[in-house]
Amino acid sequence: MTTLAVIIAENIPLHHKTSYAIGGSARYYCQPETTDDLLMALQFARREQLPLFLLGKGTNLLVSDDGWPGLVIHLTERLNGGTCIWNDTSVTVPGGFPLNGLVKESVERGCSGLEELAGIPGTVGGAVVMNAGAFSTCIADTLSSVVCCTIPAGEIIRYSTSELELTYRNSRIRKTGDIVVSAEFSLGRTGTITELGNRRREILDRRKSKQPLEYPNCGSVFKRPPGDFAGTLIEKCGLKGLRCGSAEVSTKHANFIVNLGRAQAGDVRHLIYTVQKTVWERCEVLLEPEVIFIGKFDEPLFIPPEKNS
Ligand SMILES: Cc1cc2nc3c(=O)[nH]c(=O)nc-3n(C[C@H](O)[C@H](O)[C@H](O)COP(=O)(O)OP(=O)(O)OC[C@H]3O[C@@H](n4cnc5c(N)ncnc54)[C@H](O)[C@@H]3O)c2cc1C
Repeated sequence: MTTLAVIIAENIPLHHKTSYAIGGSARYYCQPETTDDLLMALQFARREQLPLFLLGKGTNLLVSDDGWPGLVIHLTERLNGGTCIWNDTSVTVPGGFPLNGLVKESVERGCSGLEELAGIPGTVGGAVVMNAGAFSTCIADTLSSVVCCTIPAGEIIRYSTSELELTYRNSRIRKTGDIVVSAEFSLGRTGTITELGNRRREILDRRKSKQPLEYPNCGSVFKRPPGDFAGTLIEKCGLKGLRCGSAEVSTKHANFIVNLGRAQAGDVRHLIYTVQKTVWERCEVLLEPEVIFIGKFDEPLFIPPEKNS
């Protein structure tokens, strides 16, 4: 174990730290509690020339069975005090704060705009980077600015929402690799506390009835293709229940691949390839993964034949 002010641990298993409960170990791992800790961790990675991966709650990831060969920086609610700072309908939230916690607080304060994001299990930082969304809302609708730590310079910079290029499950931060240290939201006053609470509860109940939350998973595996739904196409191809090892295309919701017990990342990756290939061959739609792959995978993603040549 190497000690700076921030503790850098070695060989930390990542399967405990992802919603999939899958994946090998991080060669180095740390949980910064302050922005200074974060900067020190970045310095360590630079000095040792380590590839960097920024982990939130790990709810949109498939980590390779070989793990991650560099440094994993895990942003949790412990970062920068871990509380939301409210000013009427505006709120500043640390990047590692749970999105669900923010949604609940906003509803309890009668602030509207986030209630339909109830049940998305990641951090606020992860939600910004992915422009997480559900039903008629996404993060871009209420986000006003973010404070980032830039990579590789390590500068602390505030960006307005328009500078983040937030599109469907994507953002400029996914390309730059910058770190969301905090985010500011401007919420509304549409609806009473009871109405907002009822909507939040309704959304949580819908998720419970439609999603296979009883098994470890990463949410929707594939993005929504234009004019269709990934789950509908996968179901139409008869792939519900398809298994590889202990990974299964969920029988409850076809756009989920669940871990029935001891699934390996390679099993999930193989199912992803098979689903992509089958849906392409039968429906001529290329499903693009929403899940993010971390580390090395032997099996490629499917490439349609004409793009191969
Ligand atoms: C049951 C279930 C339901 C889900 N439902 C939805 C849904 O309805 N809508 C939806 O959009 N998603 C959904 N998801 C996917 C997931 O919860 C979201 O994408 C979430 O925003 C990811 O946040 P995270 O903290 O877990 O990020 P991680 O999975 O840890 O990381 C995702 C990406 O964000 C980056 N990242 C994380 N934190 C930061 C940060 N602070 N700064 C910079 N980069 C960062 C990571 O490096 C990685 O590239 C669901 C997942 C599950 C398991």
